[in-house]
Amino acid sequence: YSHDILYHVILIHIQITRQCVSFFLQIFINNEWHDAVSKKTFPTINPATAEVICQVAEGEKADVEKAVKAAKDAFKLGSPWRRMDASHRGLLLSRLADCIERDAAYLAELETLDNGKPYAVSYTVDVPMVVKCLRYYAGWADKWEGKTIPIDGDYFCYTRHELIGVCGQIIPWNFPLLMQAWKLGPALATGNTVVMKVAEQTPLTALYVASLIKEVGFPAGVVNIIPGMGPTAGAAIASHMDVDKVAFTGSTEVGHLILKASSSSNLKKVTLELGGKSPNIILSDANMAEAVEQSHFALFFNQGQCCCAGSRTYVQESIYDEFVERSVERAKKRTVGDPFDLNTEQGPQVQNSSRRFLATSAAGSVMVLSSCAAADRGYFIQPTIFRDVKDDMTIAREEGGIFGPVMQILKFKSLDEVIERANDSKYGLAAAVFTQNIDKAHYISNGLRAGTVWINCYDVFGAQAPFGGYKASGIGRELGEYGLDNYTEVKTVTIKVPQKNS
Ligand code: NAD
Repeated sequence: YSHDILYHVILIHIQITRQCVSFFLQIFINNEWHDAVSKKTFPTINPATAEVICQVAEGEKADVEKAVKAAKDAFKLGSPWRRMDASHRGLLLSRLADCIERDAAYLAELETLDNGKPYAVSYTVDVPMVVKCLRYYAGWADKWEGKTIPIDGDYFCYTRHELIGVCGQIIPWNFPLLMQAWKLGPALATGNTVVMKVAEQTPLTALYVASLIKEVGFPAGVVNIIPGMGPTAGAAIASHMDVDKVAFTGSTEVGHLILKASSSSNLKKVTLELGGKSPNIILSDANMAEAVEQSHFALFFNQGQCCCAGSRTYVQESIYDEFVERSVERAKKRTVGDPFDLNTEQGPQVQNSSRRFLATSAAGSVMVLSSCAAADRGYFIQPTIFRDVKDDMTIAREEGGIFGPVMQILKFKSLDEVIERANDSKYGLAAAVFTQNIDKAHYISNGLRAGTVWINCYDVFGAQAPFGGYKASGIGRELGEYGLDNYTEVKTVTIKVPQKNS
């Protein structure tokens, strides 16, 4: 297709999408659709226009009660899910991936409509990553093995990797489909049941996926999905006595609340994927063009709404001015606008925040590219760049408030200095180094306190590689084999083996 034809096809799809979204706007429990017990609904907004797309059922505590009961029943001994062969669990996950691939265009449109990310990204990045993630965990379902252990004495000792039980999963709005897949993949591969609360800003794609979960044949109650607000539905999951584990992705502030809720209820297991203020370090010997482009991507990808955004760009002093200048040039070329236009690099922010914060938090630094609304309606923000940023400024310390297309460029002199400054943060999610010297790359990488370090690249993800944070960026790892640990109880079984003639 030429761009024009493709765009036209997409517009037709959108019209269909707008009609179809009304099919999956309720709470999904026991493979059925329900209104909220309270009958309440809330609007979900198209951030490109600030218009209401539709009303969605607003789940609260009473709905969480129903969902947890369904999830608890679904893993009872002897239930279809509990009796299902592990290989068949894998097959269901694999079929779910197939259905998502079949409906990729529709899902990408819905994601763009509800979240604002460019359609080109939803279709070529988010949806394919969802499919790969589910297929990856489908493969693990019958390969997540225990061990035999040579303890002293006449015993046969082995471990079983068993399900934890009802897993509460609370996800954010920046990658609605992908965060759903990261959570469902390992939980279902290991035989758990799920009560998921989706972000109130972006409920639509997760609810469509719920319909596919039913279509491919997951037994009733295995996956339950509740659209609703954090302090009501989310908090009810986090404090529920029959929820055995909570997996949360979102802000560090809410992460604290989730831990507190666990400790004051049943000490449910908690894994947290939280925020970051990730250092991106550019050494003077880096390939300048590549470093500028990748640093631009590191910060501005997904409208700057990435937990691992390279939001502290440290540049060595001898190349600082040139790097700033070239970064500004690159950011000026960024195409901001209609997320359904295939040439758009940056759509609207999911919500109307960020801009107010900048004026108060950047005093002392120099804004070299201006922060202003990029359209007369919708939640658009022009790419913004600050130079001469100092470590103690709020824009270099806090993720909250900005979490948007705002780049901070800091200056450093030596390697040891930049490692120390990079680590001087409550966060430790990700980091990157750009250099052509492999020894320096390893030296810095080993010194950084971060769950992921990219060298001469940024935001490279694979379902096979773990992701998660040091320090206040989280607890536990998602993705890869490591991600299965979060969803498994280890049972040690010891059997006396009578010896011959004894
Ligand atoms: P948020 O913490 O406000 O919300 C995340 C989810 O938690 C939403 O579903 C929300 O409704 C729910 N929630 C809010 N209050 C709650 C409460 N009291 N109890 C239970 N649940 C509650 O975060 P956000 O603004 O939606 O998302 C952006 C944040 O997510 C950023 O901080 C970003 O860094 C982080 N994030 C982290 C990762 C990661 O893998 N580390 C990935 C994506 C996003």
